[in-house]
Amino acid sequence: MDETIAKIPAQGEPWDVIILGSGPAALTAAIYTTRGSASTLIIGGEKWGGQLMLTSTVDNFPGFPEGVQGPDLMMAMRKQAERFGAEFLEKNATEVEISKRPFTVSVGTEKYLAKALIVATGAQTLWLDAPGIKELIGRGVSSCAPCDAPFFRDKKVAVVGGGDSAMEEAFVLTKYASGVTIIHRRDAFRASAAMQQKVLNNPKIKIMWNSEVTEAKGTDKLTSLVIKNNKDGSTAELPFDGLFVAIGHKPLSDLFKGKLTLEDNGCIKNFYDKYHSATSVAGVFVSGDVLDAQYKQAATSVGTGCIAGMDAIKFLEESPPAPGS
Ligand code: NAP
Repeated sequence: MDETIAKIPAQGEPWDVIILGSGPAALTAAIYTTRGSASTLIIGGEKWGGQLMLTSTVDNFPGFPEGVQGPDLMMAMRKQAERFGAEFLEKNATEVEISKRPFTVSVGTEKYLAKALIVATGAQTLWLDAPGIKELIGRGVSSCAPCDAPFFRDKKVAVVGGGDSAMEEAFVLTKYASGVTIIHRRDAFRASAAMQQKVLNNPKIKIMWNSEVTEAKGTDKLTSLVIKNNKDGSTAELPFDGLFVAIGHKPLSDLFKGKLTLEDNGCIKNFYDKYHSATSVAGVFVSGDVLDAQYKQAATSVGTGCIAGMDAIKFLEESPPAPGS
């Protein structure tokens, strides 16, 4: 049964809504805009789906008592948005023009117009700023255990970080590696109690507290890490075949520098008014990890994506005359 509600605009006409991003916030926003019969284009990026595409089991997304695989969850959300008529472009937006409406989003030389814009571009992995790290990415240094753990069967690996991501990476790695060492710069994790417990109870995982990786060594692949104890200043070079970096993420807001007001941490500033997802420009709404650097959950992104979708629909209904039009 064709359940398409939202139609594609005629050639040269603006889309009602363009959504930048394709994680849980973006796809939830699209479900709401299309069901509100707004023509909706998702510019989802060459690598679509956001961070959940790099995750294995997600145990805390409501509705899945046995857990759900991250990529399966994203595929289901995408299908749901497409069911109501969302168009999906697996390309990267390269420029935005939001000083007048309709807004313009460029994808290389192609230009797309929109009456309202939802920014749900998410966040990207941070890497350690230490010699050897960048050079050895893909050659022993990784940020995605679910993707790369099988390459480290019976090998010795390290994980840097003390948050939920680090716990999750370490746990996934225990299924393959001979030993996993979590290297953390403090003497306490910030991960949730449940995730910490899982890790602390696993005999394959060792913890190096108050420790920092100061160098990754190896020519064609990682062979060792130089680790500094930041309590007594001592350093040691230890053999490792793999290093998984899980130290957080950077909001993907660069396209909007100088165009939207940003927070000091790079998130897009929310000008919460009658539109709760408002930004500094009328008709541009924000949701997901590019809005929120604190909670960063699939469930919270679904919530803010829903708000942005509903705000965009309300904005289109109330649509004040565009300045200069
Ligand atoms: P995070 O919570 O920000 O933790 C980052 C960790 O990296 C912290 O322990 C931090 O140390 C450490 N760190 C930061 N910069 C560092 C540096 N330059 N050198 C060494 N260590 C550094 O990030 P996250 O673990 O990616 O989690 C992000 C969000 O996603 C959280 O809200 C988390 O709950 C959520 N998440 C949930 C799940 C799940 O529930 N299944 C899985 C993954 C992530 P300090 O502690 O000293 O600051």
